[in-house]
Amino acid sequence: MSLIVQKYGGTSVGSPDRIDRVADRIAETSGDGHDVVVVVSAMGKTTDDLIDLAETIHPDPPKREMDMLLTAGERISMALCAMAVEKRGVGAVSFTGSQAGILTDASHGSARIVEITGTRVKEALAEGRVVIIGGMQGVDPLKKEVTTLGRGGSDATAVAVAAALGADACEIYTDVDGVYTADPRIVPDARKIDEISFAEMLEMAAAGAGVLMSRAVEFGRRFNIPIHVRSSFHDRTGTWVKENTMEQAVISGVAHDRSEAKVTVRSVPDHPGVAAAVFEPLAEAGINLDMIVQNIARDGSTDISFTAPISSIDKAETIAKATAEALGAEGVSVERGVGKVSLVGAGMKSHPGVAAKVFSTLSDEGINIEMISTSTIRISCVVDATRLDDAVKALHAAFELGEAAEEVVTA
Ligand code: ADP
Ligand code: ASP
Ligand code: MG
Repeated sequence: MSLIVQKYGGTSVGSPDRIDRVADRIAETSGDGHDVVVVVSAMGKTTDDLIDLAETIHPDPPKREMDMLLTAGERISMALCAMAVEKRGVGAVSFTGSQAGILTDASHGSARIVEITGTRVKEALAEGRVVIIGGMQGVDPLKKEVTTLGRGGSDATAVAVAAALGADACEIYTDVDGVYTADPRIVPDARKIDEISFAEMLEMAAAGAGVLMSRAVEFGRRFNIPIHVRSSFHDRTGTWVKENTMEQAVISGVAHDRSEAKVTVRSVPDHPGVAAAVFEPLAEAGINLDMIVQNIARDGSTDISFTAPISSIDKAETIAKATAEALGAEGVSVERGVGKVSLVGAGMKSHPGVAAKVFSTLSDEGINIEMISTSTIRISCVVDATRLDDAVKALHAAFELGEAAEEVVTA
């Protein structure tokens, strides 16, 4: 008998009907003789609605209270799912993250899982019950406070639980058929990928492919838990994210991200220690930076630009302004209307010319590149937000990632 971990996303548990369908699948898996642990997200857009609600009460809500509020979303869906499974004559019990023994650090809103004890989960499984865990949440054992892992965190809960309980794999049920070569909502001819390596999926997820949270992929890679991303609406095979893949595409896909903004500190005096002076206070404030660009100095001064999540951009602006004043820089500009497009593929390491093709494709579309960053298997460009979808489509077409191109190759 094997242990199966299944995670159902917000759309998959978005209504009583859908919860019934999910319960059918859970009851069937249990009926096949497997131990089943389920991780659920909040129903539909509940998390977004709760965030909006909080912001109508307080413009910058205390993080602890946000975690108390958001975890309520998953508490609703886990209890309803357990009821639906019970109705099918299969014993089920729901647990909050805390009851499941998901221990985290103290960072409200972006907590990291440090240990999963899972005592009550194992006991319930031993009693033959299906266990349903509220995703995205944990508890800081030192302060005894409820924490959340951040947006998309139920994916991380699921893969971490699979690793802690020794499951062979983790199933992520969602509203698309798997991981595509680009977001299928933007690129209609995006192709479903059958297999993708942890390294490539990590780059895709970190670059904004929201189908899997990047920390879930990190867990998968660290503990070697293959992840099967698939649709909750039918039984077809989805995408396997795993260590070694048969497919070795040069380019895996195009990802995009609208969640960041760009800050430029203008005309900073160019001498040693200036970059540290700009970035140390941002780090102390816990602001996560993504891209950083500093140009060659002219006339003894230079511009420094960086991107940071929109959610922390006001704080970043205030800090950067204070630093600019202290350093005698000209000032600070903030651009909120930017987006990032990224091309990901393990093959680009050994294929020259990929970067040049990215730049010429965007230039042919008349899209201006504001910033560039690369890793060995990713090229990212910051562009105007209004041209982001065009940039995704153009790169997807230029690198022939779609269905049509695939058919031509196999014909
Ligand atoms: P869930 O609620 O199941 O966790 P999410 O909304 O978090 O679902 O993730 C699924 C969504 O991710 C899809 O509906 C799709 O629009 C988006 N997405 C972005 N990039 C990709 C990609 N490369 N492949 C598949 N889906 C993607
Ligand atoms: N409900 C949370 C969110 O919307 C967690 C998740 O769905 O993974 O981010
Ligand atoms: Mg998700």
